[in-house]
Amino acid sequence: MKTAEEYFDSLRKLKRKVYLLGEELEEVVDHPMIRPSLNAVAKTYELAGDPQYRELFTAESNILRRRVNRFTHLHQSAEDLVKKVKMLRLMGQKTASCFQRCVGLDAINAVDSVTFEMDRELGTEYHRRFRSYLARVQEEDLVVDGAMTDPKGDRSLSPSRQADPDLYLRVVEKREEGIVVRGAKVHQTGALSAHEIMVMPTVAMGPEDSDYAVCFALPSDSPGLLYIYGRQAGDTRKLEGGSLDVGNCRYGGHEAMIVFDNVFVPRERVFMCGEHAFTGRLVERFAGYHRQSYGGCKVGVGDVLIGAAAQIAEYNGTAKASHIREKIIEMIHLNETLYACGIACSSQGAPTASGTYLIDLLLANVCKLNVTRLPYEIARLAEDIAGGLMVTMPSEKDLHHPEIGPYIRKYLKGVAEVPTENRLRMLRLMENITMGAGAVGYRTESMHGAGSPQAQRIMISRQANLESKKRLARVLAGIDKE
Ligand code: SF4
Ligand code: FE
Repeated sequence: MKTAEEYFDSLRKLKRKVYLLGEELEEVVDHPMIRPSLNAVAKTYELAGDPQYRELFTAESNILRRRVNRFTHLHQSAEDLVKKVKMLRLMGQKTASCFQRCVGLDAINAVDSVTFEMDRELGTEYHRRFRSYLARVQEEDLVVDGAMTDPKGDRSLSPSRQADPDLYLRVVEKREEGIVVRGAKVHQTGALSAHEIMVMPTVAMGPEDSDYAVCFALPSDSPGLLYIYGRQAGDTRKLEGGSLDVGNCRYGGHEAMIVFDNVFVPRERVFMCGEHAFTGRLVERFAGYHRQSYGGCKVGVGDVLIGAAAQIAEYNGTAKASHIREKIIEMIHLNETLYACGIACSSQGAPTASGTYLIDLLLANVCKLNVTRLPYEIARLAEDIAGGLMVTMPSEKDLHHPEIGPYIRKYLKGVAEVPTENRLRMLRLMENITMGAGAVGYRTESMHGAGSPQAQRIMISRQANLESKKRLARVLAGIDKE
């Protein structure tokens, strides 16, 4: 397995075309706006190498028959699924950000079972190709970006009916040795942290959309790929050089748009090409796994925010007030509710035909639908406890200014024993998570990541088996026989 340092070195070798703030970047890995995000991914390597976390961060690979980083592992039991959620919670606790690597983990698990079923039903050879690809991912301990979301243009139209046919990624040419694809994938979590980009279709498709039913993986520096880095609230604070105003000075997450400008994909790396009937299954499984993930990662970030709220209450001198204590209990209750969903959908997981375990889809969707709501309430309570200073306080430069700094230290002090700077640091961390760069991960990603709330509602209605519930009622009401 790679170390964190080897991970950074491996990224430095990639020759990628990356744009940020209107400029093409020479330096990606050490760029101050990007580096915190890579640090978060590097933590997945660091903790896998730490004996203390070995059980959680590594797993016995069913392919290589040796231990691999769990972020590259196919779940072989419900216990594996549970461990994944625990690992993500721990990662959230250590980074308070989106650490990105789970998208690839969720992609490989979804593609594994679906390609197996395709081969079985259609006689294709996708699963063999996929397994040999995955062996390399495990062998080299690679980060995979699971790229699902297309731009989608007019949402009322299917892929092939769009005014611009490229608004969903598609195959534009088929050759003996591979395919050529064109299109884009948007809000790609961890695009620049990845060695590999694994593309999947974004919706269930019909026969008219066959050219769009495509799944493949490419090295992230393949010719024709272009990355456009997404902005976040307060992101240029990272260019100011300090460590206070950024709130979370070491870690972050990122999203980017990836453009595929007539990109060639070798045959061995194609895992679906035209089999539209399997697109729905792939989307449903990938989304299901990623909805499970949120019952871990967001809970870990929630732990940090709850800790920060309790800490700032002490710094402010409000910790003993009964309403503050009540609010913190409420935050814990909401956060653990999310965790309970993550654990539940995992422990109820079952094997698919390929042997890879799948979460309980109904419970995973319930998990994610809760995540679209509860972190907002947790953030609201944190903001309540923090007080308005969180958004009105002066900058780090003012704090260190010889003339005005002493006024800030004097007048922004809370309880006498705590240095003013600690109080300001804690508030900035809370600002980061609730409304700054970190809020991309904690709030809006909680809303739209792994699919927007309506997508979960649709899945819940499909999985709920309302007919059987109606029958239960009819039997007890004496209308039907038991
Ligand atoms: Fe992982 Fe959570 Fe980020 Fe998704 S949102 S990539 S599950 S940390
Ligand atoms: Fe996400």
